[in-house]
Amino acid sequence: MPVVGSYWKSCAMRLDPRSPLVINTHELGRRPGSMRTRELTVSAPADLGIELIGVPEGSPLQLDFRLEAVMEGVLASGTARATLVGECARCLEPVEDDLDVTLQELYVYPESDAEEDEASRLHGEFLDLEPTVRDAVVLALPYRPVCSPDCQGLCLDCGVRLADNPGHQHDESVDPRWAALSTMTVNHAEPADPAAGRDEE
Ligand SMILES: [Zn+2]
Ligand SMILES: [Zn+2]
Repeated sequence: MPVVGSYWKSCAMRLDPRSPLVINTHELGRRPGSMRTRELTVSAPADLGIELIGVPEGSPLQLDFRLEAVMEGVLASGTARATLVGECARCLEPVEDDLDVTLQELYVYPESDAEEDEASRLHGEFLDLEPTVRDAVVLALPYRPVCSPDCQGLCLDCGVRLADNPGHQHDESVDPRWAALSTMTVNHAEPADPAAGRDEE
């Protein structure tokens, strides 16, 4: 198949076949209904996450998926599992959680005239799972992760973590009505907290 060489060259510009998330579909063939299952554990790529939480680069990312040839291309579906590491949006303590997301993406054949420019495509016989994994992971992440659902955040006056030091007092006595308001502020007006904490790093 002399054409493979030229395919390969043009693909090499766009996909790195050495990337662990670039999958060779050669074995699968193109007969609709043909199916292959794969399990693999790869090192998580960089930036697999959002600001406060994500999958650390290089940590294990377990993929369990199947490839199915359909008329228009290859349907990839399965699950991705990893450990999430981040920080609590309220008190900045480390947060760890398990991630388990489902993936599904149709990769159309290179010559397909699928109209959407955004369709995922096979490049030659290769498909790149990374964008699919990335989209599924990022969508599943909590925008504001918390160490526990009832985390009280930090004291507005001195910055201690309220869970470590509940009901602590300050020398200047605070009007109890203001104290109550402060607690409410910690609970509801959170967006400013993590930014403040980041400056200290
Ligand atoms: Zn917390
Ligand atoms: Zn305090």
